[in-house]
Amino acid sequence: MAGCYPRAVPGGWDAPGSLLRPGAGRSWRPSGPTGQDGSVTAPATPLPSLAELLAEACVVTLPLRSRFRGVDEREAMLLRGPRGWSEFAPFLEYDDAEASAWLAAAIDDAWGPDAAPRRDRVPVNATLPAVPPERVAELLDPFGAVRTVKVKVAERGQGLADDVARVAAVRERLGPEGRIRVDANGAWGLDEAERAAHALAPFDLEYLEQPCATVAELAELRARLRDWQLPIAADESVRKAADPLAVARAGAADLLVIKAAPLGGVRAALAIAEQAGLPVVVSSALDSSVGLGMGARLAAALPELPYDCGLGTAALLAADVAAEPLLPVDGHVAALRVEPDPELLDRHAAAAERAAWWRERLSRCHERLAAGTGPFTGGDAPG
Ligand SMILES: [Mg+2]
Repeated sequence: MAGCYPRAVPGGWDAPGSLLRPGAGRSWRPSGPTGQDGSVTAPATPLPSLAELLAEACVVTLPLRSRFRGVDEREAMLLRGPRGWSEFAPFLEYDDAEASAWLAAAIDDAWGPDAAPRRDRVPVNATLPAVPPERVAELLDPFGAVRTVKVKVAERGQGLADDVARVAAVRERLGPEGRIRVDANGAWGLDEAERAAHALAPFDLEYLEQPCATVAELAELRARLRDWQLPIAADESVRKAADPLAVARAGAADLLVIKAAPLGGVRAALAIAEQAGLPVVVSSALDSSVGLGMGARLAAALPELPYDCGLGTAALLAADVAAEPLLPVDGHVAALRVEPDPELLDRHAAAAERAAWWRERLSRCHERLAAGTGPFTGGDAPG
């Protein structure tokens, strides 16, 4: 039986700075800037029953072109609601509290209302895993003509010299007009990040994404780099934090990376962007084209889109679920809802035991949403 569930809220209903609060009857209302009491606008999203979620759910295993984030293949569960297909694909190591935000996003996407689009396509960057320089061309070619590349750095088992060599190869490929941003996924310590910023400065970076893990470190690094004109972007400090706005309030970042799935959906991410008061970059999490479509529709709904979006990552997949994957064309992807191809769903169906694992995960996350516990109520997730 369907009921109303409190909207996915990083931080939980009672968390300081929580954007969304439960309303009467276990519905929710985002506390946007338009309401006198902080209340707004979006209607409650009905929580489908578990049976409804499972009715057409498919689990797929998609191979990657290159190892990324420590994995060689990506598992995802696809759900079908009244508005079409959506993707539930939290990384395997995420606990149920964190994963339930991704489920809320998938439900909001396929069962909730669409955000009004302001553009029909969005500019994207290429994303380069932490590969040696000789593999740069092979991995960037599938993105086509893009003006911006995000380079992964600070990979475990590598050193700063590896990062410098990779970034140098990308700068050579792009020429002086190209934009390069680097993403350390919080892996550097403060001094290490400062050394890296200096070593990479000759390559004229657009920004440094999540160089360190904590908000305090980001704030200190930003102060140390004040004269370098190297903006700091926060990613994990937004999407994995109990309070996604804490980093903005602390003055610890120049811009925020926002992702629809971990923030509980397109409308929740829009509310965070509005309240943060900082420029945002829309990105994704190595999703299939179905999940990337949700990100593209988030980017399409933002009032301003000053940075190219990290939504070109279908090019990192060696196989996808859509007959026409959401690959960049002339540096843009279409802001569409993407439908999977039944034949591809069959071809890439996950092994039976993996599908069972995902159904159990879905069930536990659904239970959290139905109980109103939502994501992150257990406290801070590691940043
Ligand atoms: Mg990142």
